[in-house]
Amino acid sequence: MTVLEAGEKHQELLDELISDVEAYNSELDRDLLARAFRFAAAAHEGQQRRSGEAFIRHPWGAAKILAELRQDEQTIAAALLHDVVEDTETEIDEVRSEFGDEVTQLVEGVTKLTRIHFQSREQAEAENYRKMIAAMVGDERVILIKLADRLHNMRTIEYHGKQKQLQKARETLEVYAPLAHRLGIHKLKWELEDLSFETLHPRKYEEIKTMVAERRTDREEHVSEAARVLQLELDKVDIPAEISGRAKHFFSIYDKMAKKGREFNEIYDLTAMRVIVERSGDEGTRDCYGALGLIHSLWKPMPGRFKDYIAMPKFNAYRSLHTTVIGPEGRPLEIQVRTRDMHEIAELGVAAHWLYKRGKRDPQWTAWAKQLMESQVDEADPREFMKTFRTDLFDEEVYVFTPQGEVKSLPAEATPIDFAYAVHTDLGHRTVGAKINGRIVPLHYRLKSGDVVEILSTKTGRGPSRDWLSLAASSRARNKIRQWFSRETREETERKGRDALEQGLKKQSLPYKKLVGSAVLAQVIRETGFKKAEDFYVALGSGKVPVGQIVNKVLNRLKTEEVAHEEAVPLKAPKAGRAIAGDDLGIRVKGVEDVLVRLAKCCTPVPGDEIVGYISMGKGITIHRADCSNVKALRRNPERFTPVDWDGGATHSFRVQLAVDSWDRPRLLEDVARTFAEHGANIVEYGGHVEDQLAKNWYVVEVGDVKALRGLLTALRNIDAVFDAYRVTPS
Ligand code: MN
Repeated sequence: MTVLEAGEKHQELLDELISDVEAYNSELDRDLLARAFRFAAAAHEGQQRRSGEAFIRHPWGAAKILAELRQDEQTIAAALLHDVVEDTETEIDEVRSEFGDEVTQLVEGVTKLTRIHFQSREQAEAENYRKMIAAMVGDERVILIKLADRLHNMRTIEYHGKQKQLQKARETLEVYAPLAHRLGIHKLKWELEDLSFETLHPRKYEEIKTMVAERRTDREEHVSEAARVLQLELDKVDIPAEISGRAKHFFSIYDKMAKKGREFNEIYDLTAMRVIVERSGDEGTRDCYGALGLIHSLWKPMPGRFKDYIAMPKFNAYRSLHTTVIGPEGRPLEIQVRTRDMHEIAELGVAAHWLYKRGKRDPQWTAWAKQLMESQVDEADPREFMKTFRTDLFDEEVYVFTPQGEVKSLPAEATPIDFAYAVHTDLGHRTVGAKINGRIVPLHYRLKSGDVVEILSTKTGRGPSRDWLSLAASSRARNKIRQWFSRETREETERKGRDALEQGLKKQSLPYKKLVGSAVLAQVIRETGFKKAEDFYVALGSGKVPVGQIVNKVLNRLKTEEVAHEEAVPLKAPKAGRAIAGDDLGIRVKGVEDVLVRLAKCCTPVPGDEIVGYISMGKGITIHRADCSNVKALRRNPERFTPVDWDGGATHSFRVQLAVDSWDRPRLLEDVARTFAEHGANIVEYGGHVEDQLAKNWYVVEVGDVKALRGLLTALRNIDAVFDAYRVTPS
């Protein structure tokens, strides 16, 4: 059978589809649709659906659904072709040579989604999601086609075995309906939900359906009475509008009964009505508020039920006014007010952007998808990803304000921690508390819509605490906290590596202090294959490199070179710090004001370090780092220690001594000097010498705080040929 013959066999289907599309798209490329239809009909010739119908009825059905959503002709054509690569002998290249790149990419995207195979249930879903999202970021029409495909399959699900039915229905409810919701395509969402509900809980479904039918007349009377009254009032003030009753969907009734434990009557007696004002643009928006004012003057509004999604649209661009009033006969009445444009987006969501006129993509949606793509990178565990994704899909949102009046939308159950991370990652890390509407609250406070949130932070943050992971409701905050800890972990592993080497060398009675930072050790590390000391110590700390092997290498080297007996040239100590008023250094001495404070020259503390204050007779208070070895000796006089703290108000920069060990190369000093300059670190003194090809330099520099210092050290370590850079610790 030829392509033409296969198409002719189903000519009436093609005619119907073309007339559907032409109803909204007068410039339709009929030839494209006809070719796609015939191509698909020929490819699927001889195949049957489980219902016994010709297979072409399935892609045709999906195409019809997309025509109902008024999609462009490429999307409709791709829907007709969506199963040819997966289910027939057709190669993707044949589709390409026949229909060009755009349609082919859509078909390819859908085919990829269909092809994913699963290992376990959780894994399966998460993987599936990822592929979907990846596809969406490229072109969200792929998802529209996939949703139409699924909807058509759900409409014909009765022909499958019971097991398959349940599995498809569950997947639809957990994956596809939320996706449709996220994209704002409520038209598809409701039907997907109701079909799944009917399959999963047939008895409950019938029960609700019957109850709804029994009350229909009563409900319609109630709504039409209210509509008559309202229409009259709207005419008086010249707000043209269309008023209609609104049927509740079966699944949403069931969901409210199951989740909120409400009785059918409680939900159902809330009759619903929709007012669509005819004018558009600013005028239309004004009419919406005008209509709302009328409604509230006609009937008493129920407190706490008014929601303004026009001023604050939902994440999926949904806009509308919602209110519940005590309507005629004292019965509650739910009312939505919106313009036609808003209504279109309410029904079609993202699909509204792909109406046949080919609007631009929704930047908000693309940004959301991108964000999900990023979080996917952090989440190796599919279950964790599922959790993140589910949270983002299902939860309602809260809207809160910054002190400047900017609106932030966060998932329900969000805490001040989520808010802080939403404003800025750095603010999140520095959070110590929060004020809601001017009052201090604990960090586990759950934000409510309308809250004004002010974050209390320190200048020199200590970073998040682990229990914040359970307080944060947004995936963004959780990811940022987790990232912070994985950096911490690397530092911890590095420290472990250094300790392990120290123990190993000491066991062999080798002089650890002399060897650390020595050319001998640096050479051994280089031979082991590490260019940077940091990487080496991390490998050592995580057990990837055995300590014994390194100690042996050091021993061998010492034997051949006999450098162990050479005296290491000591680093020259920087000059002593001057005495300065504590206020200028940003140091607060508990219970004392205006006291002279000096920074110990042995350990040069900078803001952010843990510090102790030691009362020096006649010299004020000397500030040491808590881990300074001199402090240990001073502990003999505990009464001379006094509690001190950084208060973040330093107007000075701080001197600190750094060592930079590097393999000598031309222009190295230039690069090092530039790095200091780029980090705003002023070099006060420097010196150095070369030891067996290893250039050992030291610098005294002025920095702002520990954070600046950390950034500087990282940059120094990243310079080519730099082996290690570190703060000189007291010995
Ligand atoms: Mn299909």
